[in-house]
Amino acid sequence: SCVINRNYLCSTHPMVTPTVSPHSGSSNITASLEALRLDGHLSFDNMHHAAKDFGNRHHFLPSAVLHPKSVSDISSTIKHIFEMGTTTGLTVAARGHGHSLEGQAQAYHGVVINMESLQAPDMYFHIGELPYVDASGGELWINLLHESVKHGLTPKSWTDYLHLTVGGTLSNAGISGQAFRHGPQINNVYQLEVVTGTGEVVTCSEKKNADLFYGVLGGLGQFGIITRARISLEPAPMMVKWIRVLYTDFFLFSKDQEHLISSKNSFDYIEGFVIINRTGLLNNWRSSFNPKDPVQASQFNSEGRTLFCLEIAKYFNPEETNFMTQKVDSLLSELSYIKSTLLLSEVSYVEFLDRVHVSELKLREMGLWEVPHPWLNLLIPKSRIHDFANEVFGNILTDTSTGPILIYPVDKSKWNNRTSMVTPEEDVFYLVAFLSSAMPFSKGTDGLEHILNQNKRILDFCKSANLGMKQYLPHYITREDWKTHFGTQWEVFVMRKSTYDPLAILAPGQRIFQKAR
Ligand code: FAD
Repeated sequence: SCVINRNYLCSTHPMVTPTVSPHSGSSNITASLEALRLDGHLSFDNMHHAAKDFGNRHHFLPSAVLHPKSVSDISSTIKHIFEMGTTTGLTVAARGHGHSLEGQAQAYHGVVINMESLQAPDMYFHIGELPYVDASGGELWINLLHESVKHGLTPKSWTDYLHLTVGGTLSNAGISGQAFRHGPQINNVYQLEVVTGTGEVVTCSEKKNADLFYGVLGGLGQFGIITRARISLEPAPMMVKWIRVLYTDFFLFSKDQEHLISSKNSFDYIEGFVIINRTGLLNNWRSSFNPKDPVQASQFNSEGRTLFCLEIAKYFNPEETNFMTQKVDSLLSELSYIKSTLLLSEVSYVEFLDRVHVSELKLREMGLWEVPHPWLNLLIPKSRIHDFANEVFGNILTDTSTGPILIYPVDKSKWNNRTSMVTPEEDVFYLVAFLSSAMPFSKGTDGLEHILNQNKRILDFCKSANLGMKQYLPHYITREDWKTHFGTQWEVFVMRKSTYDPLAILAPGQRIFQKAR
């Protein structure tokens, strides 16, 4: 079902198929862009990379790709497009590592900014009572980790996978197993440098231009391009006790998770996942976990039941090993998991954080990384998680899963709620992530169509049961749906758009606003 021509490659989504070119006189526009004086450069050929993302379902070719070497490259390009006004439909998308799922970092016939080219100035580490690092918006978190640990420091809050850019995750939230304690990544930033939709370069923080600061954090790229971020750091541990335990009873599993995220002296990382009919390689894509003594647990027979795996970790330094072993034993003794299923592993801090990359390499080798990824990420209020689990794991997904299904609670009462990120109304809610991979050309249960249908059934259930669910990494097509998604925050979101990006030039791939013509 792909339409293919020279400029517009293919989209499996009929609603977003562009039918007309967003601007006329493209040779004039190319010439005017070429005339810009830049430290980096623009390219007008071989742009297929910029029309691709991890979702691998939407492919919109831009007119040009900017490879900036300075913030002023980004600013003058946007200013130029802004000054052309609405005579062209030209838009601009920052592309971090392109790990979006639905074309969010693409700009059909627009300009894509390859943020990873923006490496100058170097990362700057401030070491003091409140340590931080200043890093480019195009920096990968994995590089930030390697550099930080050289200083004995580390960011506090992560994503499960680190080959994502600072600007890309800060435009969403950046949620992982540390968020219950530190909040998402957007809550661990002191300051940003942003290029707005008029080309203005603005420094913002809680104290200075706070409206832009909070707007950009979780703002889906709508208000500005993050060129630099000041990220808060803490002392880095060297080692991690990484633990998995199993449950057959969702009630006990979630009760333990909620207990752990609410206790002060808990683990440092708390997640969990669902195991449906443990078969198939893709279910094990997080298989970097290498338990010390897997024999006993491997004898556990689930008898085909759906299992719930609590995944927890405690950070430590070698001199604390004995104390930490006792501490972990004591924390585990409070939990109701099936005792024979305890799996424990000890790895370095860096190995732990970069765990998904190990699986990426395995899947790449097998040609299974660059397949379509119809992912669905939901935030479900705590009060309705049992209704959700009953229906989804008891009815919709009973036979098989096409990728990992993460499920873990967070408590936003400790989060800063001034950002643009949208969450359910209750303080405690679960992140439920269906991380499916579709086998190309398959018409079976591992094919794209089947998975999309399943996603739709899950979304329909959330709606009909009135769960108060919010999408994470949201994707909507109609203005009405976006309005519903933002709820009471919609008016502020629209106002910020008209203030910081009045022509709706930025991040067109989110499909929230359309540039006027
Ligand atoms: P891109 O896909 O390049 O961009 C995303 C959006 O942000 C686009 O709209 C783009 O225009 C905009 N953007 C990019 N850079 C900037 C910038 N500098 N300034 C302003 N706007 C910008 N998320 C989590 O929260 N937790 C996880 O554990 C997690 N794990 C993941 C694992 C994998 C394998 C993948 C593929 C994704 C995962 N994600 C996770 C989702 C991820 O955080 C988002 O998809 C994120 O946007 C990807 O970053 P990126 O650099 O590739 O951004």
